[in-house]
Amino acid sequence: MTSLPQETDVVISGAGPVGLTLANLLGQSAIGVVVLEKNKRPFDIPRAITLDDEGCRTIQATGLHKKFLPSTIPGKGARYYGEDGSPFAEVGPGPIEFGFPRRTHFFQPKLDQILANGLKRFQQANVFYNCKLIDFSEIDNGVEIEVCTPGNKSHSLFCKYLIGTDGAKSDIRQKLNIKMIGETYPEDWVIVDTSNDPDHEPVSKFYCRRDRPYVSIPAPNKGRRYEYRIQPEEEAQKLLEFQNIRERLSSTRTINPEDIVRSTVYTFEAKIAEKWRVGKILLAGDAAHLTPPFAGQGLNSGLRDAHNLAWKLAIILKGEASEKLLDTYELERREPAKAMIELAMAMGDIVMPKKEQDIEFRNKLVEWLDRFPAARDYIVSMKFKPSPHYKKGAFVDLHHQQFSGSLVGQMLPQLAVKQLNSPEQQLDNFLGNDFALIIQDKHLIENATKVSKSFFYKTQIKTIFIGQPPFKSSDYVTNLVPIADSLLKKLRAHRDQIILIRPDRYVAASFSGENQKGALAKFKEILNTRGK
Ligand SMILES: Cc1cc2nc3c(=O)[nH]c(=O)nc-3n(C[C@H](O)[C@H](O)[C@H](O)COP(=O)(O)OP(=O)(O)OC[C@H]3O[C@@H](n4cnc5c(N)ncnc54)[C@H](O)[C@@H]3O)c2cc1C
Repeated sequence: MTSLPQETDVVISGAGPVGLTLANLLGQSAIGVVVLEKNKRPFDIPRAITLDDEGCRTIQATGLHKKFLPSTIPGKGARYYGEDGSPFAEVGPGPIEFGFPRRTHFFQPKLDQILANGLKRFQQANVFYNCKLIDFSEIDNGVEIEVCTPGNKSHSLFCKYLIGTDGAKSDIRQKLNIKMIGETYPEDWVIVDTSNDPDHEPVSKFYCRRDRPYVSIPAPNKGRRYEYRIQPEEEAQKLLEFQNIRERLSSTRTINPEDIVRSTVYTFEAKIAEKWRVGKILLAGDAAHLTPPFAGQGLNSGLRDAHNLAWKLAIILKGEASEKLLDTYELERREPAKAMIELAMAMGDIVMPKKEQDIEFRNKLVEWLDRFPAARDYIVSMKFKPSPHYKKGAFVDLHHQQFSGSLVGQMLPQLAVKQLNSPEQQLDNFLGNDFALIIQDKHLIENATKVSKSFFYKTQIKTIFIGQPPFKSSDYVTNLVPIADSLLKKLRAHRDQIILIRPDRYVAASFSGENQKGALAKFKEILNTRGK
C-alpha cells in the first residue's frame, strides 16, 4: 500500500465523484496527485442518479467509460402527468450530440468505486481514506497542509495546488471565509431509493398533482427513485417510517421493507460560492455551487469543473502556461454553474409549484401550451438547458468570429467516425487527453503537423484529418472517415480551417493557413507563455 507522501503536485480534498474525476484526469497527464478523504471508505449511499451527455463525456475522458456504462441505464426521456393522472406531455430521448444519451441513470456508489479504482492505473495519483484535511496555509510556492491520518496522527503535506472538492459543507471554503450566496429551500424533501420496482420503463416521470406532487426516476438494478416534498403539516421523520412510505407509494407500486435501498430527508439548496479561488487554492463541485436536484445537474456541473480545471493545472505544472490561466477557470465556469442552478429552480417551479396561484398558473399554461406543441416541447424537454458554450475565457477571438456557425467557445460535437477498414467509433477515442487539431482539407496537413510539433514542449497536440477519401494514418496524422449524420454539418462549417480543440473538448480557436501565425500567437498570449 502506498503511504501518504510529504510532497505532491496537487492535493484534492474530498474523494466524491468530482475530486476523483479530477484526480483521474490529472493522473492521465502524469501529474502527482494526493486525494484526501475523511471517511474510512467510499460513500455507499446513492445521491446523484442522472448524468447528462456532457457528464458522460467527461467520464469517457478519464478512460473509464467502458467500465462505467454497462452498469447504467440510458434514459429514454421524460413524461409529465397532470392533476387527473393522465400524461400531458412527453419528451423523447432527443438527438445524441456529444456521444451519449441526454440522460443516463446510474448508481453513484458504483461510479465512485470505478473512479477510485481508476487511480490504480497511475503510480503518482492515489486516494487516501481516513485522512482528513485539518488545516492549510499558502506559502510562496505552494500550500502546506495538515492531515489527520488513521490513529489520529498528524501529517504535513506540501503541494503546489490545493483543490477543495470537499462537498456542500467544504472545510476549505469555510476556512477561506468564502460565503455561499443564494437560498435554502424552505421545505424538506423525502428521497426513497427502491429496488424490485415493477416499473422498468427508462423514463423519468413527473406527477404534477396539486395534492401530492412527486417524481419517479429510473435507477439501475431494477430500481426507481421517488422524491416528494414534505408538506408543512407533515413530520419528516414520520414520513420515513415504512408504513408511511408504503402508503405514499401505494398508487404506484406495492413495496416490502427489503425493497427500500435508502430513504432520507433532504434540504435542497440553490447557492454559489462568492469566489472559487484564493491564490493556489481552488474550489470545485458542491464546494463551489449547490444545485437543487430537479434538473439532475448538481454533479454534472461539478464534472464540468473537473474537466475545465484538469488541463489548466496540467499545462501550468508542466511549465507550458503561466498560473494566470487559472483566472479563466471561474471566468468560464461561474455563469454556466449559475445558469444550471436557475434551470433547476425553474424545473422545480414547473413540476412542484408551491402556492395555489402558481399551481393554477402552471395548469393553465399546460392547457394553453397543448395548442402549441413546439413551445410545449421546448419547455418540458428543457431545451432552455444552456448548451455547452462559454461566453468568455481561454478562446481566440471568441467575439470576432467570421461566420455565425463557428464552433469557437462551444463543445465539439462528438461524431461517429472510423479508420480505414475498422469499425465505427466515437471521435474522442482518437482525440486523446491533450490538445488536438482537426482538419478537413488535405492542403492543411502540412500546416497542422508543423503546429503540433512546435507549439508545446511537453504537451502533445494530435492532428486528426476527418474526410474522404480515406488514407492510411501516419505517425503525425490520424485519418478518420466521418459517418454521415447531422453533426457533420457543424464541423463542415470549418472545412477550410484548422480547429484547435482543448483537452476538455471545447473549441479554442479556428484559423485558416494564412491566419495561423496570428491565431497561435493569440493563444500563446492566453496561456501567457512564449512557448516553444
Ligand atoms: C438527493 C440528491 C439527488 C441528487 N441527484 C442528482 C442527479 O441526479 N444528478 C446530478 O448531477 N446531481 C445530483 N445531485 C447532486 C450530487 O449528488 C452532488 O452534486 C455531488 O455528489 C457532488 O459531488 P462532490 O464530489 O462535489 O461532493 P461530495 O460527493 O459531497 O464529496 C465530498 C467529499 O469530501 C469529503 N470531505 C469533506 N471534508 C473533508 C476534509 N476536511 N478532509 C477530507 N475529506 C473531506 C466528504 O467526506 C465527501 O466524501 C443530487 C444530490 C442529492 C442530495
